[in-house]
Formats: sequence, C-alpha cells, structure tokens
Amino acid sequence: MVLMTSPGRRWVWYGGRPSLDFVNTRRNRGAGLRDAGHGDRTAWDRTAGDGEAEYLREPADLAAWLAEAGLITPPAAIGRSLVDGDILAGALALREAVNTAVTATVAAVSVPDRAVRCVNDWIAAEPHRPALRLEAGMPVLRAPRAARTPRGALALIAVDAAELLGTGLRERLRICPGPGCRGRFLDDSPAARRRWCSMAVCGNRSKAAVHRQAAHAAAGTS
Ligand SMILES: [Zn+2]
Repeated sequence: MVLMTSPGRRWVWYGGRPSLDFVNTRRNRGAGLRDAGHGDRTAWDRTAGDGEAEYLREPADLAAWLAEAGLITPPAAIGRSLVDGDILAGALALREAVNTAVTATVAAVSVPDRAVRCVNDWIAAEPHRPALRLEAGMPVLRAPRAARTPRGALALIAVDAAELLGTGLRERLRICPGPGCRGRFLDDSPAARRRWCSMAVCGNRSKAAVHRQAAHAAAGTS
C-alpha cells in the first residue's frame, strides 16, 4: 500500500497535490483496525491506536516529509533544527483542517468555518507571490512550488488546499474506499471516474478479492 522511504517513515504520493499528500501522512483515516483485507498492516501501524496510522510523529518526520515533497528549496536547507515542536503542532493543525474540509466536501456537507480559518491563517502567514506560469502554452496563476522555511512550505500547502477547495477542482476530490487505506486524492482522469488511490495497490487488491469471492462461490455451488 505504501512506499517505504526510510525505516519508520512511509510516505505516499498519489494525492496528485501537495496538500492531499500531506493529509495522507495520516493513513487509514476513519477506518477501524478490524477492517478486513489489509495483509500489509505492520506492528508499527497498530501503534497508532484506533486503526489510523500517524506518520508525522516528531519534528524530524515533518522535516523529512517537507524535503521529500520538494516544498523546501534547496532540500538540504531543512534540518532538524528548523522544525521544532511548535511547527509540528501547527502543521498537524493545518493538516487536520485541510482533511476536515476535504472530507466534508467529498461528503457534500458544510465545511466547518474553523477549518477554513485555519487554512486562511496559514496562507497569510508567509508572503509568497503567486505568478503566471505557462503550462502547455497557457498562463496559469500559480504559487511558488517551494519555500525557504518550514513555515513557508506549510503556507504553500495551505495555498494548494485553497486552490483545490475554492475552485471547481473540489468536484474531483476523492477518498479511496480501500480497506486500510482511505487515501485522499485528486481525480485527474479524463472521465473523472477514478475510484482507487492507485490501481496498482487498492485497485488490484479489490480485483483479487472479487476473484476470491467468485472462486468461493463457484466452489460452493459445484
Ligand atoms: Zn487506496
């Protein structure tokens, strides 16, 4: 289900946008441990309590994630000393606010005001000038891709979340139904019918489960 990058830190990058990859640093949201069908659950996952798995457990985790996400430039500029407990706490608050807004949007219910305020506070926290960038010859208004400080990087995540939540892109926010996954992602497929975080992971697992059920059924009726 996840890509291992270093012992104890497993990030996934199928969100399609930095703010969704960031939300996915907490895995298996809203799912219980007793969900069936996730043979890859590790003992480390189980330490997260209610079936969710937390991958940003200390400041060094956040520093590593920001660097690997390419949100800090140059990547080597981010060290342990730059990310302290306060920044981690603020980052987790932002992450949960984005998740709350994404989850409410997918469920077509009202987004709580406090989630919007948290995102807005982070957008205001750091000056970064959006600028036009040519994409396939078309000018698109974009924030910078990377910042020089952890707070700046978190502000960019907030801007990214605002672009998703505050525009028609919100119609393409999805939550993977895979047991043990529940990954958030942007459906960028032409028909807007992408169901799984990744066909190679949850999609194939679902197909295998359907085959198993079909085989069971066939065995039971023969
Ligand atoms: Zn999935």
